Amino acid sequence: MTLKPAFVILALTASLAGLMARTPTTAVAQQANLAVAARVSTSFVSGHETLTAVQDGASPRSSDDTSHGAYGNWPKHGVQWVQYSWTRPVNINGVAVYWYDDNRGVRVPQAARLLRRDGNLWTEIKAADGKTLSLRKDTFNTLAFAPVTTDKLRMELTGNGKSSTGVIEWTVGDAGKSPAFLPVVSGPADRVVRPGVKTELVATARSASGGDLAIAWSRVSGPGAVAFDDPNAASTCASFTTPGEYVLRVTARLVAARIGSEDGSADVHVKVRAEQPLVGQSEVLTRHYNLTSPLWKARSKALIVNWIPHCVAQIDKPDLREGGIQNLVEAGKKLAGRPSKPHVGYPFSNAWVLNTVEAMCVALARDADGDTEVANAQSAIRKKLDEWVPVILAAQEPDGYFQTRITLGDAREKGQAALARRWRAELRGEHEGYVAGYFIEAGIAHHIASGGTDARFYEAAKKLADCWAEHIGPPPKQEWYDGHEEIEQALFRLAAYVDGVEGAGKGRKYARLARFLLDCRGRHGGQDYDQTQVPVTRQYRAVGHAVRAVYLYSAMASAARASGGANYLSAVDSLWNNLVNRKMYITGGVGSGETSEGFGRDYSLPNDAYCESCASAGMLFFQHQMSLLYGDARYADLCEDVLYNALLSDVDLSGRNFTYTNALDTDEARYKWHVCPCCVGNIPRALLSLPTWMYTRQADGLAVNLFIGSKTTAPNVTGTDVVVTQATNYPWDGKVTLQLDPGSPKVFALRIRVPSRHASELYTPTPAIGGIEALAVNGQTLTPTVEQGYAVIRRTWTAGDRVEFTLPLSVQREKANKAVTADQGRVALRYGPILYNFESADQPIDGKLDSSARITAQWRRELLGGVTVLRGKFSDGTPFQAVPDFARNNRGGRSIVWVKEDSR
Ligand SMILES: [Zn+2]
Repeated sequence: MTLKPAFVILALTASLAGLMARTPTTAVAQQANLAVAARVSTSFVSGHETLTAVQDGASPRSSDDTSHGAYGNWPKHGVQWVQYSWTRPVNINGVAVYWYDDNRGVRVPQAARLLRRDGNLWTEIKAADGKTLSLRKDTFNTLAFAPVTTDKLRMELTGNGKSSTGVIEWTVGDAGKSPAFLPVVSGPADRVVRPGVKTELVATARSASGGDLAIAWSRVSGPGAVAFDDPNAASTCASFTTPGEYVLRVTARLVAARIGSEDGSADVHVKVRAEQPLVGQSEVLTRHYNLTSPLWKARSKALIVNWIPHCVAQIDKPDLREGGIQNLVEAGKKLAGRPSKPHVGYPFSNAWVLNTVEAMCVALARDADGDTEVANAQSAIRKKLDEWVPVILAAQEPDGYFQTRITLGDAREKGQAALARRWRAELRGEHEGYVAGYFIEAGIAHHIASGGTDARFYEAAKKLADCWAEHIGPPPKQEWYDGHEEIEQALFRLAAYVDGVEGAGKGRKYARLARFLLDCRGRHGGQDYDQTQVPVTRQYRAVGHAVRAVYLYSAMASAARASGGANYLSAVDSLWNNLVNRKMYITGGVGSGETSEGFGRDYSLPNDAYCESCASAGMLFFQHQMSLLYGDARYADLCEDVLYNALLSDVDLSGRNFTYTNALDTDEARYKWHVCPCCVGNIPRALLSLPTWMYTRQADGLAVNLFIGSKTTAPNVTGTDVVVTQATNYPWDGKVTLQLDPGSPKVFALRIRVPSRHASELYTPTPAIGGIEALAVNGQTLTPTVEQGYAVIRRTWTAGDRVEFTLPLSVQREKANKAVTADQGRVALRYGPILYNFESADQPIDGKLDSSARITAQWRRELLGGVTVLRGKFSDGTPFQAVPDFARNNRGGRSIVWVKEDSR
């Protein structure tokens, strides 16, 4: 018996022109393929692969043809399984399987068994003559058997002990007595679009029973009309005139129903948004600042006095297997014509050396304020920078290129062969742009730290960017995108910085290069893992590796700000919407880890989360760029959430141990080092750049985004430098006094963020608390207007002017959206920006919290460096104490964010 994949595929490719011309057609069914109507699951799927590819009906050309995707379980060995489940039992008599074999880590299995669910047991299915599934490459392996009825079919794959296994396609033949299944329709991703701008909608529809399908797009709800280019094409475009929220539906109907006649459908939610970017905003770079906040003084000190010196010591170890400064020393020797050793460690090992260097530069911006330990650590950092900068510069090739893995080659590949490996499409994993991006950012930070007096590293950073610009670009230059995003956001930062230092327009070429790199992504198709599945302007869902993703989105927000364009804005807004409202943990962390270091499906947020520390840093960068793009306080709300609840917990209170992953339910202690040390400098560079997250400049004034006891200068606020001093013990106390000291009296708008604790649709805090209370300017009470989430005070500001206000703080209970199954029946506690954890160090944490239990906030000076704890009683009457999330796991035991709630 031959089974052919037999169903209708209406649209699979992104080739719009081709699809627009195509009408729904049919591949004539020989036998219905019931795989189409099944839900597919597995013991494990590799992050590089897509499980649903096995049921997509593609006909592979070979066992290495993954053009329509494949399932693989690399790097797992041993027995793995893939399973189809149907909502109603099916009657089947055969399967056909096309094995995936990439000739590397994934090979045809050594054995395969087909099992059906039979009551509580799995029973093997064999052919009448006892034959089982064959294991031939490059063809469909078919197995015909006597009809059986089941609702679950499992294929068990046994590898050869050294390799993983995989499947490209798996069809299941209908024996004729199966129930009717609806056509299966996948709609396009939810999105945000601009009024009057066309957005492309692509649906796929398949029928288990074969036969022609008729497609229809319609508007289910929304405030205005929707115009479809062709409402009966699987791939079409739509435009909207009126802002608001819409629901569209795509329906597939069997034209000539053989079995069943119901319609399959999928809905897509579209937000039509008219908000335009706020032109003229700019960053306040982190230069000299004082800290008075007890919380931040202590945390920043732990980073400067303990964490950074620890990273420096690691980098200095000549035999560090992750490859520290020695890689740069060796590259310098080689470039000077002296004997050298090969590159050590991962291809990206220069990256964490350089993000540590950036963190060292940023650490110098904080005034030691008489703390001799901080001052001594800073002098040691300064000395180390003086030693390292010449080493870094010597490792840069004469034309500006930098990446010691390429310069030195590795143990297998030396000399010219290695040199020829720059920007090779088959070597995207070399992390050339990832490393280069950190080099550029460290160069900027070093220039800032020197007060602009030492331009060596800054010039080297520009030279590196120039080298890229020389080779990468429109023809005759070459196309390029990096396997791991980072250089894009670094180039946008460089563009803005060069404009600031050398004059407007001088940095434009770097922004152009960044935009070109972004536009190369997905041009020829690719994978979710590194966000190349489609061009970036058509990406609406956060997918793939989470750090790569948020670094990309941060750069896309910069691109939208630099050169606008409705498609960039729509993509960035859609990605933000999907990330924040479907895939973000309540801590602000991202990446559930259900795909390789990446995202799971919408609302899939298990509390054993991956949430890499680098992804939290990237999340902060993305929200900061969105804040610069739109000037709306909702982005600064998220910056605050991420800073306090995702990033601040990455290093322990002593600053001696860190964590790579950040689960919301964990008993894992932090550790000194990780075999992949990407996060070690990323964490302090983000946490120590406080003034950058605290303030933004507008064309007409200054915005205050965060409330931290501190003093710094915001330069050039409508033409004058303004010293801003915040006196506050926030987040433990809501009273804030802002003192403004402009260089000369000046009219400008002061925008004070009015915090909202409801930053994501996923989590709802009660009671609702917000607003700013008791605001007074120089003692005079004032009721400011609130624009885009900021209280705006426009007046002539004179040295010594004081603004006082109170941010209401009280305990809030957070409930997760019903779709987040992991958090159902549970509640999380918040106090201002701080989320709380229940720790087994304080009490058993399996207790239930009564929904009406009284919870009070209490300051405890002696606990965890001084924190406000939340106290109350579980429903069985035993007392509990919850501690801030950032202080979790400092006393051993288990720590959870979401505690059980009594449903009474
Ligand atoms: Zn990392």
